[in-house]
Amino acid sequence: MKVTIIEGCIGCGLCVGACPDVFCMQDDGTARVCNAPTKEQESVVKEAAEGCPVSVILTE
Ligand code: SF4
Repeated sequence: MKVTIIEGCIGCGLCVGACPDVFCMQDDGTARVCNAPTKEQESVVKEAAEGCPVSVILTE
């Protein structure tokens, strides 16, 4: 699975809380993808993408 965070993160922390191995908070208070998800992490990453309040997490 490929995960991308596009412009517009408001730094709510949901994705980082859900899967800190994949999502990391940056110094500017926005999240980035720090590791590609393993197969086992794909479902939680999908849930984070669906739960992101500004829908900036894209999965493919
Ligand atoms: S869930 Fe969305 S808005 Fe919240 S930190 Fe992650 S990417 Fe940013």
